[in-house]
Amino acid sequence: KLVLGIETSCDDTAAAVVDETGNVLGEAIHSQTEVHLKTGGIVPSVAQQLHRENIQRIVQEALSASKVCPSELSAVATTVKPGLALSLGVGLSFSLHLVDQLKKPFIPIHHMEAHALTIRLLNKVDFPFLVLLISGGHCLLALVRGVSDFLLLGKSLDIAPGDMLDKVARRLSLIKHPECSTMSGGKAIEHVARQGNKLHFDIKPPMQRAKNCDFSFSGLQHVVDRIITQKEKEEGIQKGEILASAAHIAAAVQHTTACHIAKRTHRAILFCKQRRLLSPSNAVLVVSGGVASNLYIRKALEIVTNATECTLLCPPPRLCTDNGIMIAWNGIERLRAGVGILHNTEGIRYEPKCPLGVDISEEVGEAA
Ligand code: ATP
Ligand code: FE
Repeated sequence: KLVLGIETSCDDTAAAVVDETGNVLGEAIHSQTEVHLKTGGIVPSVAQQLHRENIQRIVQEALSASKVCPSELSAVATTVKPGLALSLGVGLSFSLHLVDQLKKPFIPIHHMEAHALTIRLLNKVDFPFLVLLISGGHCLLALVRGVSDFLLLGKSLDIAPGDMLDKVARRLSLIKHPECSTMSGGKAIEHVARQGNKLHFDIKPPMQRAKNCDFSFSGLQHVVDRIITQKEKEEGIQKGEILASAAHIAAAVQHTTACHIAKRTHRAILFCKQRRLLSPSNAVLVVSGGVASNLYIRKALEIVTNATECTLLCPPPRLCTDNGIMIAWNGIERLRAGVGILHNTEGIRYEPKCPLGVDISEEVGEAA
C-alpha cells in the first residue's frame, strides 16, 4: 500500500508518500511562516494565494523524491478539517482533481486525528492511548481507542497555548531580541526564560478548581499583559522596547503554562486509569504539536507520567508540527482499518470547524 498525503489546513503546503510499514518514500514542504511573521499573524487570503502557488510543485516534489509513479498509489489522503476555510479549499480542490485524473480512492483526513496517530509511524503504540495536542491553533486531551475512534476528554475553552505564548512574545517585543528574531513566539519565550527567575512573578495557573480536563489560556494572557503594562511604567520604557524584566516574565508565563498543562493531563490520566479506559500497567501518553517541543513543558509532563507510571512519547519536532507525512500515514491507517475510503467524492466538503471524536460529556454524561 502507498498513500500520497496532502496538507494545506493552515500555513504549510506539505505532501508526502508513505508506505504500509511507515517508510517515508518522499516528502516536500513549503512553509509560509516568514511571510506571516511580517504581518504578525496569518492573513487567510495570503495563505490561500501561497498554497495555490506552491501546491502543484510540492506534490510533484514529494512524488519525484519517492520514485513512485502516481498510478502505483493506493489512494490520496488530504486534510479536509479543521482549519482555515480558504487554505483547506486549495488542498481539497487540488486533490479532487488529482483522484479524478488518476482514478484513485480519496481519504479525507481530520488534521488532529493525523497529529494523534503520527506516533504509530515511529513506535509500536497500541490502542488505547492518551494524546495531548498542544499547538498554536489547538489544545486537546483525548483517549485514542482506534483509528477514528476518539474520546475527547478536554479542550481549551478559549485560545491554544501556542497562540497565548505568541501573543505574550509579541507584547514583549521578543522579535527585536537579537537572538530571537527568527523564532516563533513560543520558542522565543523558552529561549528568554532560561535567563529568568520563574518565581519572580507569582502567576496562578488557570482553572484550579475545575473538575474536568479542559484548559484556558486567555485569562493568563491578560494577567501577563497587565504585568507588562505595569513594568513598562515602572521601568519608564515605551511600548515596543524590551523590558529589563522580560526574562522573568517569560519564565513565569512558561512555568504557569507548564503547571496548567501538567495538572489537566494528570487529571486525565487518573480518570482513564480509574475507569479502566487505559491499561493500569502500561499506559502511554503521546504529546505532540508545536508547543510539545518546549523542554520545560515536557519536563513537567515527565514528572506527571513518572508519578502515574505512564510512558511519555513525543514524535520528533519535525513530525510534531504540520507536515505531509502524518496525513499520508493517517491514510495508511485508514486503509488498513478499512474506514473512510471514498471511491466517489461527490458532495465532499471541507469543514473549518470540526471537533475530534465523541465528547466525554456525551458519552459519560459528566465531566471527567
Ligand atoms: P495547528 O494548530 O494547526 O497544528 P500551528 O501552526 O499553530 O497549527 P504548530 O506548527 O504545531 O501549530 O505549532 C506552532 C506553535 O508552537 C506556535 O504557537 C509556536 O509559538 C509554538 N512553539 C513552537 N516552538 C515552541 C517552544 N519551544 N515552546 C513553546 N511553544 C512553541
Ligand atoms: Fe497542526
